[in-house]
This record gives sequence, structure tokens and C-alpha cells, in this order.
Amino acid sequence: MSLALSGGTVVTSLDPPTVVTADVEIRDGRIASVGRTSPSDGRLDVSGCVVIPGNVCAHHHLYSALARGMPYRLEPPSNFVQVLRRVWWRLDRALDDEAVFLSAWSGGADALLAGTTTIVDHHASPNALEGSLEQVASALEGLGVRSVLCYEVSDRDGPDRAAEGLEEHRRFAKAQHPLASLMVGAHASFTLSEETLHACVELAEELDTGIHVHVAEDAADERDAQARFGRRVVERLADAGALHDRTLLAHCVHVDEAEAGLIRACGAWVAHNARSNMNNRVGRAPVERLGERVAVGTDGIDGDLFAESQAAYWRAREADPSVDPSWALARLAASARFAGAATGEPLLGRIEPGAPADLVVLDYDPPTPLQPENLGGHWVFGMSARQVRDVIVQGEVVVRDRRLTRVDAEELRGRCRVAAEALWRRLDALPAHPFEPEGSP
Ligand SMILES: [Zn+2]
Repeated sequence: MSLALSGGTVVTSLDPPTVVTADVEIRDGRIASVGRTSPSDGRLDVSGCVVIPGNVCAHHHLYSALARGMPYRLEPPSNFVQVLRRVWWRLDRALDDEAVFLSAWSGGADALLAGTTTIVDHHASPNALEGSLEQVASALEGLGVRSVLCYEVSDRDGPDRAAEGLEEHRRFAKAQHPLASLMVGAHASFTLSEETLHACVELAEELDTGIHVHVAEDAADERDAQARFGRRVVERLADAGALHDRTLLAHCVHVDEAEAGLIRACGAWVAHNARSNMNNRVGRAPVERLGERVAVGTDGIDGDLFAESQAAYWRAREADPSVDPSWALARLAASARFAGAATGEPLLGRIEPGAPADLVVLDYDPPTPLQPENLGGHWVFGMSARQVRDVIVQGEVVVRDRRLTRVDAEELRGRCRVAAEALWRRLDALPAHPFEPEGSP
């Protein structure tokens, strides 16, 4: 199986920004050459287009995809823990197997159509837990999306659910999904007992992977760690053996200088979610203190990494005038490096021989010259998901002329709307979740 993308402008790397005029030859799911191609089985004319490495979402919650436009009838939340108790911890309990599948399908389809080829997901469905990772993986594989999956282990729904969450990883580890990899998911320090946190660390060792956990998204997480353990969140994770170079820490909004130092020293990755942080009003993450391994995620808002990286840039720039547009490219490149490490594909996110052929063709015809030194400016001020024409994952064209090739999108969206209405009705019958962290004022 071979395919050649001919006549395009090719961004072979985001960090350092590298732009060449070349054909890209794909063979057996990988980039075979970047240069002049010989005639091959398939040829895709990309003249007048820009070819980029597929975007990577380093932190997603696909389970929230059917929450778009959801009605809300409880008293409005006035802090982040109330947002969890009144919105997300009601939604996750209302999910059944079909809603898990269709949420993953809907969120995965949106991501693919926006040029995102890899999703690092953090899944929760406490009342449809067994087999849930299988549902997510099969929805994503049906579309042709690469993924790094985990189940959000937590004690908030009791010790049985925590044990089942751990077991779900073991079950999924035995499954065969060529496009899906596995991490161990943990919710956040404030909903994890010492016993469950240690069980997550042991499981990650057993499965030879890292832990994907929310860290200090809100100050409540830090207050709880201080009240229960006399330590800050990152210190607690370090003491438990959870902090190393395969760990993925989402948010890190409220980490202090010492915690940032621990993160930099151990080489853990940080998933920065600027739009979600603003939406939940939890504060600005101190990204400038967290090192080079700061990646970008959407935290479930959508699958559009153009929009996310642009918002992250504006928020970072507002706080620090030395931030320039190439900062956004470096964050996206970090997302791909993280996913590359987690999936055993170190060249993921680059267009060079041997790299997995995960590519996006943008119908982008700029009114100004496009060069390596101004790629960041084009990215932040010109490029967007609306230019995504074709998407290739592992050498297969999964979006052609803005349409998914593997599934009937209209039929599935119809099923999603029916499932969403039923999901909203189930959710309406649920009260706010009773869980409260320690140390709250
Ligand atoms: Zn999250």
C-alpha cells in the first residue's frame, strides 16, 4: 500500500519550525520519503495546500461529548468543586454503554475533522465501567483515530468502583487494538486514598506505562493534600512513586515553585488546558515555570488543537510579553513527543522517513509568504480547523474532502442526538454528587 502527496508545502516539524516544498511518499503506514516521489499506487494532489503533522490532544474527556448544549437546572455552581459535583460527576454516572461509545465516536469524529489524529483520553463512566475502554477504543478505531486511553480511578464513588477502575485497565491491556495504547488513569489527589494511589502506581509498573492524573486544577486539590497528608499535591505524588518521565499531569494551575521544580526535575509531562481553565475560572497555569514538557489538551471542550493552541498562546502572551507564536508550536510539538513516547512511536508529530504517516492537508493559501521563521505567525493568526481538507492516519485517508471515509457520519450523528436526549433525562434525575474534599473553607 503506497500513497504520494504531491505538490504541497510540507511542515516537516513544528519545533524547530521546518517548511519545505516536497512530495511525501507513504508506504505501509509510514513516511517513506520526503522529496521527489516516484510514481506510486495512489497519488493525492495537494498542490496549493500545506501538509502538517497530525495534531495531538494531550488531555481529552471524550465522555463529555454529548454534553454539548445540555440543560442545567440545579443552582449555578460558584466554585470548581461544585462544577464537578453538579455537572461532570452527574454526567459520568448517567453514561451507559451506548452513550460511552457514541460520546467517543462523536468527540473522535470532531477531532479528526479538525485535524487531530491522536487523542490522549481520560475516561469516566462509573455505572458503565466494565468494558468502557473497549467501547472508547472501538469507536475511535472505527474512525481511524490513534489514542492513548485510561480509566479515571477515583474513590469518590466508593472503594468498589476504585477497584473496578483499576481492573478495567488490566482487562483492556489484554485486548488487541493496533491504534490504541494504555496509561493508568487516576482522577486527582483529592479523590484518591493513599491505598488507591499506591495501587495506581503499582498497576502502572505492572503494565509498563505511566499515570495520567489531574494535578492542582483548583486550589481545593492543594488544600485537601495539605489537610489530609500535610504535603502539597506534587509532593504527595512524588512520595508515592507516581512522578517520573512517563507521567502525564493535567492542569498544574496551583503548583508552587517547589512543585514546579519537582516536575521539571523528574521529566513528567504537563497537559495545559487554557480554554478549560478560563471556562472554569480556576486560574492561569504557571506554564513558564513548568519546563519544555508542557503539552496542550482541550480537557473535553472539543478536539480542535488549532483553537486550543491559539487560546493558550493569547493567555500566555497576556501574562508574559516575551512569549511569541513559536511558543504555541513548541507546545503542540511537546504533545506529539509525549504521545510518541506513550505509543512507542518516537517520530510521531514529524514528517520524515520512518515516522508514522499521520498527516493533515490544509487548504491554506496564505496572502503572505510562509517560511520556517514565520510559521508560528501563520499558525496563530491564519491557520484553523476550517482549512482541514484531508486527514491521514497510519497511511490511510480517514478524512477526504472534509468527510469521514470510514463511517456514515449522518447516521451516527442521528444516533448521537437520540442518545444525548436519553442521557440528559437520566442526568436530570441525579442529585449533585455528595463527595467533598478536605480542607475546604
Ligand atoms: Zn481533565
